Amino acid sequence: MTGRPEPADNAGASEFVSDPALVADLAQRYGTPLYVYDGDHLRRRYERLRADLDPRVDIFYSMKANPNLSVCALLRSLGAGLEVSSLTELVTARRAGVDADDLIFLGPGKSDDELRACCAGGGTHAVVVESLAELAALDALPEAAGTRVVLRVNPEFETHGSRLSMGGKPRQFGIDEEILRGAKAAVTALNRVRIIGVHAYLGTRILDVETVVHNTRGVLRVAEDLAGELGVPLETVDIGGGWGVPYFDNETDLDGTAAAAGVNRAVAEFLDRYPGTRIITELGRYLVGWSGTYVLRARYVKQSRGEWFVVADGGTNHHMAAVGIGSFVKRNFPIRSLTPPDAPATEVYTVTGPLCTPNDVIAKRVRLPEVRPGDLLGVTRSGAYGPSASPVLFLSHGHPAEVLVVDGVGHLVRSRDTVDDLLRPQRLIPLAAS
Ligand SMILES: *Cc1c(COP(=O)(O)O)cnc(C)c1O
Repeated sequence: MTGRPEPADNAGASEFVSDPALVADLAQRYGTPLYVYDGDHLRRRYERLRADLDPRVDIFYSMKANPNLSVCALLRSLGAGLEVSSLTELVTARRAGVDADDLIFLGPGKSDDELRACCAGGGTHAVVVESLAELAALDALPEAAGTRVVLRVNPEFETHGSRLSMGGKPRQFGIDEEILRGAKAAVTALNRVRIIGVHAYLGTRILDVETVVHNTRGVLRVAEDLAGELGVPLETVDIGGGWGVPYFDNETDLDGTAAAAGVNRAVAEFLDRYPGTRIITELGRYLVGWSGTYVLRARYVKQSRGEWFVVADGGTNHHMAAVGIGSFVKRNFPIRSLTPPDAPATEVYTVTGPLCTPNDVIAKRVRLPEVRPGDLLGVTRSGAYGPSASPVLFLSHGHPAEVLVVDGVGHLVRSRDTVDDLLRPQRLIPLAAS
């Protein structure tokens, strides 16, 4: 029953980080579509990175990659700080057990409420300000007395090898390096807040060691220059991150050990000159991406004009990234059959979800074993930018269930949205009968 068109890239090639039998069991227990995050894999990955990185580099988890409370708590339990970008993320981090000193708040459009929450006792290690106007607004808040601020710089130097680069371009993020160089008056005029350092984040999905090291060296150099010119201390320097996870056939994995070694050398040279500086690196995708599997159940298998389709119970409403990250050409995330996991991939299918849009394609022309209705499929490396970065309300399907596996045991860490959950915030207004 092979379809006519030739298979696309990534045909059926992916390993599971979790035991497929366990994932199938969890799908049975909690239903599908389901996200399974393998906390044991996550823990090993974090500990590996922690061992590779100089202990003087603090690892902060960028919560937007996967804001699940228990995922955050697990990372916290391993020693990670948290980088948050909304009031809810800040409260999530607190509930996950993160102390103020291991929290930074970042984002281009913080509200007054968010800024206030960063201040005072139970606040944050630092607010990362993204414009001079925001710096002035924060400084004007009575609550801001003594609040520590890190300046996010949009550096002049460019980065290469990132799938979404930030440096050297006009951006809504951070303050242009050129502007900051001329901002001594604005910085000196501050009444309440205290500038303690510099932050830069140069792009996401970086898969080559040279780019990581180039960026790190660049950020440290810019931080040093700016601190000198502005007369601000370097108590904290956030060197960014953006380490990637390979999804597509033409991508090779980042050598984390080599990247860490390059970062360590740059940081060690810097710390020789600034021994007291706290160095932070922020990582989202790299920490959680590998650990997640999006589990779908095939509902129908049908043929259309020579092509075979698997219509599954979940789709891009939970996994928008599967449409293709920043590319016009559809590229496939790794996908595999869970029932049975080891059968040879002899067939070619396009896997789609329940949405009424032709874009709801999870995988286009992938090789899989024969799929029958009721079979389970797993989209792997899906632990980052999953449901929270997807249109979960489209067609009112709601948020999928999420399970976190710890010590081989699956725990439900988010329940599936019910019809009531989805309708509760809505109001029916009285309308006169005509
Ligand atoms: C999104 C973001 C991150 C995390 O990016 P990843 O590529 O997932 O590691 C870190 N820092 C900033 C400023 C971000 O906006």
